[in-house]
Amino acid sequence: MTLQDHISSSLRKGKHSETLLINQLSLERIENDKKVYKLGFGQSPFPVPIEITKQLQLAAGRKEYTSVQGLKELRQSICDFHKEFENKSWQPEQIIVAGGSKILLFCIMAAFKKAEILLPAPSWVSYEPQGKLAGHEVNWIGTTFNHKWSLTAKQLDDYCIARDKEFPLILVFNYPSNPTGQTYNANQLSDLAGVMKKHKIIVIADEIYSLLTYKKNYPTLSDYYPEGCIVSSGLSKWCGAGGWRLGFHYIPKELGEDFKQAVIGVASETYSCASTPIQVAATYAYRNMDEARMFLNRQKRVLNQISQYVAQELNQINIFTHTAQGGFYLFPDFSHYRDSLEAIQIYSGEDLTSRLMDDIGVVLLPGSAFGMANNSLTARLAFVDFDGSQIFSDDIKELSNNNEESTTSAQFEFNKIKEGIKILCQWFTNLN
Ligand code: PLP
Repeated sequence: MTLQDHISSSLRKGKHSETLLINQLSLERIENDKKVYKLGFGQSPFPVPIEITKQLQLAAGRKEYTSVQGLKELRQSICDFHKEFENKSWQPEQIIVAGGSKILLFCIMAAFKKAEILLPAPSWVSYEPQGKLAGHEVNWIGTTFNHKWSLTAKQLDDYCIARDKEFPLILVFNYPSNPTGQTYNANQLSDLAGVMKKHKIIVIADEIYSLLTYKKNYPTLSDYYPEGCIVSSGLSKWCGAGGWRLGFHYIPKELGEDFKQAVIGVASETYSCASTPIQVAATYAYRNMDEARMFLNRQKRVLNQISQYVAQELNQINIFTHTAQGGFYLFPDFSHYRDSLEAIQIYSGEDLTSRLMDDIGVVLLPGSAFGMANNSLTARLAFVDFDGSQIFSDDIKELSNNNEESTTSAQFEFNKIKEGIKILCQWFTNLN
């Protein structure tokens, strides 16, 4: 036996190789002075506001460990912020802070002896390997384009009625979604909550993109199912601070002190606490709500504008795409072109994304990376390849101060995305 034979099979070998291949192909193109349109990888294009970075500089000398749960004043400011923006009724003692929400998703799963992790397909890439690494059974439940890639209450109810397992069911429920950009309205959430209550489902509501929901007032699952809904969020998306690594979970009291202590136990035995200077800067970010509101409004308007532009261009040539309702992503369905694609030996999303990379330098990630079937002709398109610092430009600032409602996007440039979409559309229209 080699060391290789002892490596955990829970890690996504196949999916790692998909992204590696695409990375390698894009590097080769760049070396050959060919253009690459980076519509594959999504991270916030907006810089962290300068005042918040100054707070981080000032806090650099804070070298002590904090409690595992995080600084009390940070947890209080998280509660106040989410009360103001999303009407959440949280208590600081129910918040656990970490270096990113991702490790907390794992800590929650690792706190269970045996559980079933249920994921709507498509879902973010890391839930499945995390569930498997924690030793659980992971199952998928398919969604469709016609239902805007949303899980329906009936689907969930039917699944639970047919389910015959002793151990708890944990649903990871992410909205606005990575990879689809779709979210849930009040009726959908209320219907789903009825089923969740009936079957006592433990839900991890991954709301990392919720503050980037384009609509002003939006519901969240804890409005309807507060008792069973763990909420996952953090600075990475709304504050443009993915690399700062600051996330948190809210654990409802109803799940019990023992459960919370078990999660804190896993946190304590793995990451100890989030970086202290980052916690101090995050406290400032969450406390300064007027600045945050302005920052959020500008980001949302720009993202909404780009999403609408891209979806419209794609839909015009029958690449069916729902406009995003929040976040950074669209999830186009290319199946209208299936026959023409099969004629050139493209049978799967992976075949399609490799060919697009090779032919025109447009990078997308195949739907199969997100739990879709291999033959699904879907892909994730991230529309964040632009210079987000434009939203802080003086012109935009002045306009925004005078009239926050009708501002910003008019002058906003996203030419690289426009060019990439044009080339993509040409490639498809040439197929016919
Ligand atoms: N959940 C989703 C859906 C994400 O897209 C990401 C980041 O890409 C995360 C969670 C993890 O975010 P964090 O930076 O807080 O670990």
